[in-house]
Amino acid sequence: MTSPEQTGGAAERFPVVGRVLEDNQVEPLLPQIAKAYVGAFAGEPWYEVSSCADEQTPRGCGNGFSPLTIGETCPHCNKVLTTEAYNQEELQTHFKGAMGTRPHAWYVEEVQKEQETQLALASFAWETDAQELVNQKYEGREEMRTFFETIAPEGRYVWLDEVFADRSVRASGNLRNFKQMILGLGQKLGAKKILYRTINEAMIRAATRDFPEVTTVYREPDVPDRRAVVCIDLARLPV
Ligand SMILES: [Zn+2]
Repeated sequence: MTSPEQTGGAAERFPVVGRVLEDNQVEPLLPQIAKAYVGAFAGEPWYEVSSCADEQTPRGCGNGFSPLTIGETCPHCNKVLTTEAYNQEELQTHFKGAMGTRPHAWYVEEVQKEQETQLALASFAWETDAQELVNQKYEGREEMRTFFETIAPEGRYVWLDEVFADRSVRASGNLRNFKQMILGLGQKLGAKKILYRTINEAMIRAATRDFPEVTTVYREPDVPDRRAVVCIDLARLPV
């Protein structure tokens, strides 16, 4: 099976523009951002395509998501899958809500392709502290608060909440401009440290490739979670 994107070098054939958005630039892009999000999480390593319909045993089927498409039958509970994993309108509402509550920044990469500007990648970061992070991302996990207070004792830092790429727009090379993304988000938010969690090894490799002197990767058991935590200490970047 061969497609133009798989024959190598396709990513470079299209001009790419990466930029940190001003708030008034985000809203018109939200439909494309939501579409990219849905496409990204349907692929590897997440495979979140649909939601299990089993309401009796919430999250009884893995994490509640299924790699199967709507209309197929969940092999765990034998119910027909009827709901998409992520609804694009709900995602837009979610992102608007998150933007309204805290200092934040968006970075996007757009590809000029077939006389069209297509969104290839988006990332969303916000300023936070250990307690807020636990409230938002690790509900009830007090050991995670202790962890973040230990690795970032200065208190406030930037959490890179989402990075997602639409591989139907750009099949590979989506983290090629990782450095530009991190520096742009960090500058917009005045970040001394940028932190994120991931199960995606490519996201870990990108940080150690682009910020070798100032990246620390925490893995189980150093972090009390199955996901790695990556810390990029921008304040220690060599000048
Ligand atoms: Zn199920």
